[in-house]
Amino acid sequence: MISLYDLFDASSGQLYGAPVAQIFEDFCIDADKAAPNQMFVVTRTRRGDTHQYIRQAIRRGVTGVLCERPPDCETDGISVLMVQDCAAALMAWSHFVLGKYGVKVIGVAGSAGKSISATAIARVLQTRYPTHFNLRTGAGMLSVPLALTRLNASHRFVVLRLSTPQPGEMAAMIEAIQPEVGVLMNVGSHYTDWFDTSEQFAEEIGLLINYLSPSGLAVLNYDDDLVRAMSDKTRAEVKTFGMSSFGADMTALNVTVDPDGTRFDLRMGSERHVDQHIPLFGPYHLNSVMAALSIGLHYGIPIETGLSVLKQLRPLAGRMNLLAGKGGSSLVDDTYGANPQSTLAALDWLQAIKDRYRRVFFIFGDMQFLGPKSKIGHRHVGQHVAEVVDVLITRGTEAAITARAALDHGMDPSHVHVTYATQDTIAALVNGYDLTASDLVLLKGGPDSRMEQVTQALLHDPDDQNQLVRTHLVWDAITIDQPSRLSWVEIDTEALASNVRMLKSVVGDDVTLMAVVKSDAYGHGAAVAARTALLNGAGYLGVSSLQEALELRENGITAPILVMNYTPPYMARQAIQHNITLTLYDLAIARDYDRIGRERGAPIRVHVKLDTGMGRMGPLPEDTMELFRHLIGMQHIAIEGIFTHFAAADEDPNFTNEQLAVFRNVLHPIQATTGFKFKYIHAANSAATLAYPRSHFNMVRTGLAMYGLHPSEQVRLPDGFRPVMTWKTVIAQTKTLPAGHTVGYGRTYTTSDSERIAILPVGYADGFRRAPNNWGEVLVRGQRAPLIGRVSMEKSAIRIDHIPDASVGDEVVLLGTQGRETITAEEIAARLGTINYEIACTILPRVPR
Ligand SMILES: *Cc1c(COP(=O)(O)O)cnc(C)c1O
Repeated sequence: MISLYDLFDASSGQLYGAPVAQIFEDFCIDADKAAPNQMFVVTRTRRGDTHQYIRQAIRRGVTGVLCERPPDCETDGISVLMVQDCAAALMAWSHFVLGKYGVKVIGVAGSAGKSISATAIARVLQTRYPTHFNLRTGAGMLSVPLALTRLNASHRFVVLRLSTPQPGEMAAMIEAIQPEVGVLMNVGSHYTDWFDTSEQFAEEIGLLINYLSPSGLAVLNYDDDLVRAMSDKTRAEVKTFGMSSFGADMTALNVTVDPDGTRFDLRMGSERHVDQHIPLFGPYHLNSVMAALSIGLHYGIPIETGLSVLKQLRPLAGRMNLLAGKGGSSLVDDTYGANPQSTLAALDWLQAIKDRYRRVFFIFGDMQFLGPKSKIGHRHVGQHVAEVVDVLITRGTEAAITARAALDHGMDPSHVHVTYATQDTIAALVNGYDLTASDLVLLKGGPDSRMEQVTQALLHDPDDQNQLVRTHLVWDAITIDQPSRLSWVEIDTEALASNVRMLKSVVGDDVTLMAVVKSDAYGHGAAVAARTALLNGAGYLGVSSLQEALELRENGITAPILVMNYTPPYMARQAIQHNITLTLYDLAIARDYDRIGRERGAPIRVHVKLDTGMGRMGPLPEDTMELFRHLIGMQHIAIEGIFTHFAAADEDPNFTNEQLAVFRNVLHPIQATTGFKFKYIHAANSAATLAYPRSHFNMVRTGLAMYGLHPSEQVRLPDGFRPVMTWKTVIAQTKTLPAGHTVGYGRTYTTSDSERIAILPVGYADGFRRAPNNWGEVLVRGQRAPLIGRVSMEKSAIRIDHIPDASVGDEVVLLGTQGRETITAEEIAARLGTINYEIACTILPRVPR
């Protein structure tokens, strides 16, 4: 329970209007999850604050609001408390209630294992003392007040999990909670987007034991070098625990893992407790056990008593939780979160247990919050994966780096599957492998990778899904902090997968789908698009240069690739080496290719391209026979296919049919007189694939439609195709300009009245076009807002008078959907006087995907 007056006293806030409700059941930070009898607390993030959500929280029934400015909505019947800084007010309230109830505080810090340690400590203390403990996960220090809302006068102890995503938070938490006991679990090789080195992180969490008074207790993990080194940083009594090193006060030895958990002997001075067992996976859990026993002992609870409750410790949802999988397999669901530290620990466990299984699978989604260290972290994990697992399936662009690293460290490529869409991750496992009782599957990833959805699909008993994280409302992680990017492109891989499947069903089983992924897949990311297309029915890839083909190979993609453009003969060697198909359309080049094929002792595989009316590459119909007469004699050229390209399949049926007729008329004599058997005959791009079934032959080349873009007004995508790309930015500033003020370079826009505008940190250097026309409109809070003045290199301005809630940090959609409004590539294309193809490609590579 939260009392308004406790909060008032603690925060020296100011009531706004007459208070109504005085008691609240809980704090609420996410307005989407607000419920009656709660108090909505405005939070500030790196991207702005949540004042604008007060209205929504009230609509959902909150009876109190803690904020920093007067709410800009009706607050009748609501108790509103205004403070200078909401986070500080909550910390002051935490301090106040802890003091009021006089409980002893135990703080647990470290880079991994905090939750299970806090659980273990609470279990042990509860054998003798009323102990409060609440495992609410949250954004940094706010998890402290959130964990205290049900504290009451009966409690003697409270155990708090101190998560420190940002420097500076530990000091604020300590000041608020004044712990008597500090537990440091580990530092390891901790790095995130906030801490550059392990040492910085060690310093931050070390503040916890620095603070303790001589009557307090510091409980330290002796196995962690940086934690051990901190033992002289405290005035409190120090107790250490460890598994690998002698010298700790409490030691776990003879540790073995079995399919039911972890077995160990415990030694503490001359005291020994042999053959103990906990039903938790991962020997590192013994650190939590020992921390809990050490604290219990300090408060007079015998080890024996502590062990008896810890024996029954159950894994937490999403943390090394054993579940029954399909085919009798064992699933270890570790999908709560992932950082390099916890992932390596999970892999170590896998290493220890793997001999008991025929195969061990590791299903891994992107780790988050690693900032610039993301690539290193993912690569580091890959190296260990190669040593431990039999089959690796990754999901996402960062996890793909892990797959790459695993391959580089010698993992069998046929056992490494890179996926980007969740359904593909699931399919890679379910369709690729028959799971049996002798298989073990470990699943792990950061929160955004939603790997619990993969676990869910693999469950033997669907009812077990209530043991997963993030699948029901109990999950209340507060993700108020977004990585700081000014502008970014989001790729909906699920939509891409679904579009490809729809195309495949349009052409049928007998026609090979070539996924055209040239120009970085029209700006969508070549590797992501290629992999996802291949997993959903594509059988060939099309690119526009050998360079692009080599990049796909470098990404570990082994599918056949056709370069649909000129490849100079001096580059042809590489094509042979990397098994890439080239386009052939000219006799002189054919002779060069033939020579190079002979020199290399391997033929060059080609598709011959004919010009049936496009007026670009290829021989004219009347010259085609002549070309083939020469090709017959070239033994080092392997002709796999023949194709042509339509000039107007999206708008001119007559001309397209004419081209089709010309193509057929050329094909017949070639096949008849030379006896060439073409494995692939193709002509159709997206428009023809959709509008001219007769043009399918046995291969189609689709780009646009895969990306959910309409070929033209006349040839539109059938229902069900979805756009794949969304381009976003954020509001950098809002302000009101007086009448007669100009905006931007050249002063092309003058306010006619007092006008509210917002500045966007995006400009033509991102591909957000300036001239002759600009984008026109963008979306803010689900409404259209017009661009005003000239677009600068990295900034632009919009009018937002009609969107009063718009504020700094708001997400702005430049392309895609927000709420009920959508800005399509087709719309922008019309405005800029071009086609949707160019819109997708116009967003420059510096904008992160
Ligand atoms: C780009 C390209 C395609 C794909 O065209 P879409 O209209 O995007 O489907 C097909 N064939 C060739 C030769 C291309 O260059």
